[in-house]
Amino acid sequence: MTNSTSPVRVRYAPSPTGIPHIGNIRTALFNWLLARNTDGQFIVRFEDTDRTRYDERSERAIFESLEWLGLEWDEGPDKGGPYAPYIQSERKQTYIDAAERLVNSGHAYYDDTTPEQLHALRERQRAAKQPQRYDGRGRHRSPEEIEESRKAGLPITIRLKVPDHGTVSFEDAVRGKVSFELKEIDDFVILKSDQMPTYHLAHIVDDKAMGITHVIRAEEWISSTPRHLLIHEALGIEPPIYVHASLILSKDRSKLGKRHGATSALEYRDRGYLADAVFNFIALLGWSPGDDTEVMSRDEIVRRFSIDRINDSPAIFDNEKLEWMNGVYIRNMSVDALVAELLPFMERPEAEGGLLDTVSRPIDRHYLTRLIPLVQERLKLLTEGVETLDFFFADNVNPAAEDLPGRKMDAEMTERALNAALELCRTVAPFEPERLEAEYRALAEKIEMKPGQLFSPIRVAITGKSFAPPLFDTMSAIGQDRCIDRIENAILILRSAAVTGA
Ligand code: GLU
Repeated sequence: MTNSTSPVRVRYAPSPTGIPHIGNIRTALFNWLLARNTDGQFIVRFEDTDRTRYDERSERAIFESLEWLGLEWDEGPDKGGPYAPYIQSERKQTYIDAAERLVNSGHAYYDDTTPEQLHALRERQRAAKQPQRYDGRGRHRSPEEIEESRKAGLPITIRLKVPDHGTVSFEDAVRGKVSFELKEIDDFVILKSDQMPTYHLAHIVDDKAMGITHVIRAEEWISSTPRHLLIHEALGIEPPIYVHASLILSKDRSKLGKRHGATSALEYRDRGYLADAVFNFIALLGWSPGDDTEVMSRDEIVRRFSIDRINDSPAIFDNEKLEWMNGVYIRNMSVDALVAELLPFMERPEAEGGLLDTVSRPIDRHYLTRLIPLVQERLKLLTEGVETLDFFFADNVNPAAEDLPGRKMDAEMTERALNAALELCRTVAPFEPERLEAEYRALAEKIEMKPGQLFSPIRVAITGKSFAPPLFDTMSAIGQDRCIDRIENAILILRSAAVTGA
């Protein structure tokens, strides 16, 4: 499908009106993949002509999302390039020129219909149960009338003259031939009264000026594509190759939205997902490599990416699958890489999900490196690293008395187990996992308890949790002194509960 004569030039052209959601980022990713697969160029362009919806935070979030996912761009607003500027509000004059050219060639006209008149027209159409659309009245305005309106300060727009009959069709690279009836399309605005272009005009002028060869975008833009083709035709230019990727739906097949969890790539970052896993997962939203392979490196995805394998049936966004995939990526990481990813999460303030504020920062990297092998297999999210490892860093843990007894143990038996455990804890040397295990197993036999019964209260005493990494590795990492303190503390908790009758 690719144009063999010119190198691929694709763009991600977000409107900076909010934080890019998963669908936007999927568009960016597919474009980036095509560029990298073909040694082409990936361009970022801000489509900010709708100043009423402009959101300042959005530009930062767009860059941050792309940077986080490693979708580096060859030309863009911050970087410049041969077709700079890459910000539409700074290219105003080119759109005005194009719109005026279309007026002069008879493809477009000035319209002085006021918003009130348009409103009244729509109301009438609604009452008559007719489709609500502009009726082309501006076609009949003379230059003198327009001039008069202009002098009177009325808003003047430029509209494209759309033929009343016939069809317009194009070959979508994913969907094949797509046709639209022209009678469904009204004379639409290409230049607004504030001299800003509409998206329809601006992106076409820019795509042409910037040598864009393929437009990969979401399905929602298909219905606008006939308008875009009409503008191309009026300007006498060739349209690019259009690729409309499928919708992304939630698992219940409704539109993906807030209630399905995170909606932006940055939210996934903050929730403890790895960029590589999210990259891999999003690549599979509407594209497949042609077999069942799911976990693929970036390089493999770049190598295997092709437009023919983008599909038109809706992609399902399955959070559980993403979580699973993240776990796979975590398991496959080197310890050092995982430490580097976990540290920022653990060092966040306690109120933002980091370790207790009483744990001093920076966190001991060497100590964390030693702990990773105890938890790596089980982690699915980086944020879980904090919950799973917090007790290794805390000064002490304070389990509830009722959590200390193991199965079929009463308070008396639990205290007996902890007393024996404490005594042994003072003497084990070296304080290493194998040694600890051998001695504690022997102790269980000596005090006539099942190993599980002895180990349960020790685990809760030392970690504050019933589920924790392997006990003796944990004890060894925490160290003899702190283990002694924690078992002593647990015995006190148990006794004071017995006194108060809790
Ligand atoms: N500015 C449009 C958007 O926000 C770009 C659509 C296109 O790719 O043509 O999605």
